[in-house]
Parts: sequence; structure tokens; C-alpha cells
Amino acid sequence: MNMLYCDNCKEDREIVIKKNMLRMFKGVEVNVEEQIAFCIECGNELVDKELEKDNLSKIYKKYRDVCDLISGQEIVEFRQKHGLSQRELTCILDLGKMTINRYENGSLPSKSNSQLLRHVFNNEEVFLAQSKKAYEAGRIKEKTYKKIEANSHGITKYNLMKQVIDSMIIEKPSEYNGFKSFDYDKTECLIGYLSKRVNLTITSVNKYLWYIDFAYFKKYTKSLTGIVYIKEKYGPVVKERMYDSLVVSNRYVETHEEEDGDFRRKSILNLTEIDSACFNEKELEIINLVIDSFKDLRVKDISDLSHKEKAWMETELKEKISYSYAFDLIRF
Ligand SMILES: [Zn+2]
Repeated sequence: MNMLYCDNCKEDREIVIKKNMLRMFKGVEVNVEEQIAFCIECGNELVDKELEKDNLSKIYKKYRDVCDLISGQEIVEFRQKHGLSQRELTCILDLGKMTINRYENGSLPSKSNSQLLRHVFNNEEVFLAQSKKAYEAGRIKEKTYKKIEANSHGITKYNLMKQVIDSMIIEKPSEYNGFKSFDYDKTECLIGYLSKRVNLTITSVNKYLWYIDFAYFKKYTKSLTGIVYIKEKYGPVVKERMYDSLVVSNRYVETHEEEDGDFRRKSILNLTEIDSACFNEKELEIINLVIDSFKDLRVKDISDLSHKEKAWMETELKEKISYSYAFDLIRF
């Protein structure tokens, strides 16, 4: 039987639990049902620690949801993603000593602190900049900062990769992806391989990918990467302009911007050798065929060539280009 000491009766009493609707909390409408203990004899309200804890956590949760405040769990997840201690995160964000510890243990953050945390957690670059500031101000050690820096690049790459995959994966196998589900790993290798063999830029990478996919489709009625291409003014390009994300998330290359007369050229340079098991013989044959055919051409020449393709001429601007046009390719 559940007993509690009653101040009124001056002895332990059986309790009865009643429900109460709490409408407002900290000036916000919460409408949470609380459970409150009463003495069964005199009706005096009694404090049951367990019930109070449950009530409070229900109220906090509702208040958090209504005000869209960050939860302790979100903070824990962010810390774990970056391998940081509570103290390190506190120092980086320049908060009061035990702030992160308290939030993780269920205390309610102020609205402004909650907004700060959300902003930093949702923007890797902001977090990195904040960490740099903390390091320069001597709030965190160099070792901690280096760890954050390395991790942050990894997370940025991972996020971009996810972005590309998400945009491609919603396409069911059809004439627009060459009857193949998008293969991120193969695409990554292909860009890595191209960067080693040709002068690759953000502009030319689209053309190489497109010609390789279409030449491969012409021979095997399947694309190589599963990429969907769109007709843009300047040529066929990866759907939703995902080429930037494809390149920046790529582990085999790095980009380098340089002035080239009036405009900036974004070169894609090889970083590391790709795994040779990435392509089978049939794939390599087509890839090399396209590379050998284009390697002495300027990007402009390749572009002009692509503008003469039926695939290009018969597709409307901003529309997906059907792989069925592969059979009309001029050069392959
Ligand atoms: Zn009583």
C-alpha cells in the first residue's frame, strides 16, 4: 500500500491520487494532466517525490515542444557526433560552467540559449568558427580544436553525400536514370578516376559523366552511375545541380579555384588513387573510350558537341534527358 506522512494527521497515511489539469506554465499554455497525492483521511495535499518528478518532466516536455526548445537528448547527440565532453561544449559556446550538464539532465534552457544551440548545431560551419574562436581565446586546447576541425570536415562531406543520394534515390529505375538506381560509390570513383586522367573542372565533369553514362547505355542499355541529367542552357548537368555536392563530398578529389581571364575556374584535382576494383572491364572500356576521345578537346569543344546531340536538341530546357537518346549519340 502507498503511504505518505501527512502533516495534518501527524502520521503516515494511505494516499489517494487525483488528476489535475495544469493549463499554464511560465506564461505558456501547456494543458498537462498532473497527478497529485492526497491524504485519504483528511484530504491534505501530500508531496509524492516520484509523482512530482513525473509531473515536472511531462510539463517540461510539453513546454519544450510548445516553445520549440532544444532537448537534452539533442545536445547529447550533438556532443557524441563530435566526441566532445560537456565541459568542452560549454567552453566552446562560452556558457555558464554547468549549463550543458544541467540541460542534459532535464533543466529548461532559456529561449535565447536554445536558439543559440540550435543555430550552432544545425550549421557545421558556424560550429567550426565558434570552436576556432574558443581556441584562440584559450577556452579549449589545440588538440580539441584539431579534433573538431577534422570531424567537422567529415560531417560536412557526409551531409553533402546524403544530399546527393536523397535527391537521386527518389527516382525509380526509368529511362531518366538509365534503368539503374543511383550508385554513389561508383560515381565517386568515376570522378576520382577522371580527375587523374583529364583536366577536370566543375563544367567538364558534367559533360564527362553525361557522355560516359550515355555511351555506356548505348552499348548495355543501362547507365553506369544512375545519375539523372537535366538540360541546362550550358549543357546536360547532374540533376538539381548536385555536381558541387558530388565533388565536395568526394574523398578522391579536392577543388581549387583560379582566375582564368574574366571568370573563376573551379578545377577538380586528384587527391588519392581510386580502388582499382571499382570498375569492371566493360565499364573501364567505355570510360577510357570517352576519355581518349575527349582528352585533346577544350571544354568548349565538348560543349559544342553536346549541343549537337539529339538528346540535347529534343529535350526542353530544365527537363530530364531521356537515356533513350543514347542510341543517337554522334561520337560513340
Ligand atoms: Zn491527513
